[in-house]
Amino acid sequence: MRKPIIAGNWKMNKTRDEAINFALGVSGRLPNYAECIVCAPFIILRDLVKRVPTNLAVGAQNMDYHDSGAFTGEVSPLMLKDTEVTHVIIGHSERRAYYNETDESVNLKVKKALEYDLVPIVCVGEVLAEREAGKTNEVLARQINEGFKDVNLDNPENLVVAYEPVWAIGTGKNASSEIAEEACKFIRTELEKIFGNKANDIRILYGGSVKPENIKEYMANPDVDGALVGGASLKVDSFVALCNYKD
Ligand code: PEP
Repeated sequence: MRKPIIAGNWKMNKTRDEAINFALGVSGRLPNYAECIVCAPFIILRDLVKRVPTNLAVGAQNMDYHDSGAFTGEVSPLMLKDTEVTHVIIGHSERRAYYNETDESVNLKVKKALEYDLVPIVCVGEVLAEREAGKTNEVLARQINEGFKDVNLDNPENLVVAYEPVWAIGTGKNASSEIAEEACKFIRTELEKIFGNKANDIRILYGGSVKPENIKEYMANPDVDGALVGGASLKVDSFVALCNYKD
């Protein structure tokens, strides 16, 4: 049984006070049947970790793949561990599009995250032109195979993959439940080729304009184990409703 994950990606939003108010606001309102996570900007991680309820995990949105060194402006996995976050998003499409993230850097970051006992939430997904050209599976296979090349996975519960079709992120144009299931199932088949039976225990999330009004449709699918949510994770009531999707 894969425990569902509802993860918020706050992107470049929230000051420290806003984040702490969020933590207080969700306190006592999150279920135990899902793992609830918020991925916040680096600068507020430590304060947030100290204030969240025990059933809300905190993650970062990126990290460097070096331990330390002359990499101005970067944050290392060691520094993330120091804040006591447990998760880190890797390869988000915004980082691929604006900050030169590649399958190769994703691969290096995944290995580093696992080395430091951080759970990577690895984002994959096609852009609209690739979907329209019938290349979705080809793109996903490449991102999975290169992103997880030579990755040693002891515990499959420590790896999360998020299928995020780029055309559905922040656009309000969510993928249909069928598209999400088809892609997540395909991703699991690719993961099986790399990790064998362990692929059955890897959580695969759908992300792209998920809201309290549509989350149930996605969660009803056998291969969709949760959601990665941007915009709708920012407000307390909306995040609480997403996490309590069964109610
Ligand atoms: C995201 O940023 O990962 C995301 C899915 O955003 P949104 O929910 O706003 O589409």
